[in-house]
Amino acid sequence: MKQIDHFIDGAFVASARRFDKRSPLTNAVIASVAEAGRAEVDAAVGAARAALVGPWGKLAVAERVDLLYGVANEINRRFDEFLEAESADTGKPMSLARHIDIPRGAENFKIFADVVKNVPTEFFEMATPDGRGALNYATRSPIGVVAVVCPWNLPLLLMTWKVGPALACGNTVVVKPSEETPQTATLLGEVMNAVGVPKGVYNVVHGFGPDSAGAFLTGHSGVDAITFTGETRSGAAIMKAAAEGARPVSLEMGGKNAAIVFADCDFDAAIEGTLRSVFANCGQVCLGTERVYVERPLFDRFVAALKAGAEKLKLGRPEDAATGLGPLISLEHRDKVLSYYRKAVAEGATVVTGGAAASMPGELGAGAWVQPTIWTGLADDAAVCREEIFGPCCHVAPFDTEEEVVRRANDNVYGLAASVWTTNLARAHRVAGRIEVGLVWVNSWFLRDLRTPFGGAKQSGIGREGGVHSLEFYTELKNVCIKL
Ligand code: NAD
Repeated sequence: MKQIDHFIDGAFVASARRFDKRSPLTNAVIASVAEAGRAEVDAAVGAARAALVGPWGKLAVAERVDLLYGVANEINRRFDEFLEAESADTGKPMSLARHIDIPRGAENFKIFADVVKNVPTEFFEMATPDGRGALNYATRSPIGVVAVVCPWNLPLLLMTWKVGPALACGNTVVVKPSEETPQTATLLGEVMNAVGVPKGVYNVVHGFGPDSAGAFLTGHSGVDAITFTGETRSGAAIMKAAAEGARPVSLEMGGKNAAIVFADCDFDAAIEGTLRSVFANCGQVCLGTERVYVERPLFDRFVAALKAGAEKLKLGRPEDAATGLGPLISLEHRDKVLSYYRKAVAEGATVVTGGAAASMPGELGAGAWVQPTIWTGLADDAAVCREEIFGPCCHVAPFDTEEEVVRRANDNVYGLAASVWTTNLARAHRVAGRIEVGLVWVNSWFLRDLRTPFGGAKQSGIGREGGVHSLEFYTELKNVCIKL
């Protein structure tokens, strides 16, 4: 069994307290993970502080950028190790991690290295009463020690999405990976050492959220800013912790994303895109679709095609190339998803396909498997149409007018993402403009240019990261005014 320890000040550090990490595939224990108490969190924050004022803080931007390129290249060199670790922790198909999680893990360092190399500086000349004038220019400095609190669904991808810009901007970090996915964050520690990133720049503490490493870290007075991805409820707790010391937060949180399918859409593209957005990563994608609205003339045909697509998805082991769907992350999460499967029926849904746990052969029988599921027939106020489930399921409802569907899509506390399927250009712009979310895809899903702003509206998030937008969070902007 693997032993997974914290990574503090460039070294792997154990704890007396440990917890078991189980495989989502079989529920067997696959690793023993150190659990940080206040002492380990203290050590990690102290190491990050020392590195900030020490070697890391003294590097020129070009030197920092070279190191970050080195990190990206080293991730790619050890690609298969990252792939195996990520898929062992999550049970996700390797085909998915090979094309998304691991390449993006490397890319997140390159893109932000490029961004900081090219940051423009603000410059204003101004008049003064004595006629001599003054010059203003703005500089950006690191914000300090950044706590990075991460979820389990795309562990390396989402963690490096924060660590990449934080380090590029000259900060140091203490990462708290999800208790469900400790491996790739730990492996990244080895990468940092191999590349020569100074010790203390990148630290990892393992543990849980409340009353554990997550809360100790976000409540630590030595942390200058907190960036978080996870559930809205956890984000709200973190905001409270950040209020002590008035520290800034960047929060990427839950969603209940809608796909809006107009009758004039490219049917095959809409089906393919919706299938991916509902079932990719077993529905455990914050940007995934759980509500599908289909214009009435297309409704029956669309539901039939979506059903056929869902029923073709093969549940299986990560390494099997034919696997389309892995397990959910844990038995606990499976129970939550199944409770919604039952609720849907209790609320009067028609189960188009699925609706239950999936029975799997042999040792997989003990894992966190559920059937891909589609419902119709519920009103918009049903629990499965309002609350984030985070499983491989969606409800499909008909609509009659553009006005109506925009209102219904917006009638939710979340506002992360939406996809709109139409060949009518004017309508695409109109609807995109009126949907209350941070990201809209038209005739696509999950197309990501990392220079673009990323984040959620309403209860889906606070702040935007991506490209130059990340600089707003990870740097302190200072104006210098020089009297001539
Ligand atoms: P979670 O909120 O349970 O946990 C996320 C992280 O926060 C974990 O590391 C956890 O240990 C820690 N944590 C929890 N409570 C805490 C507290 N009070 N103080 C400090 N740390 C705490 O989320 P999850 O179940 O790991 O991830 C799934 C959720 O993440 C879904 O809601 C999903 O929509 C959301 N998500 C959002 C985005 C986005 O970009 N908006 C991306 C991925 C996932």
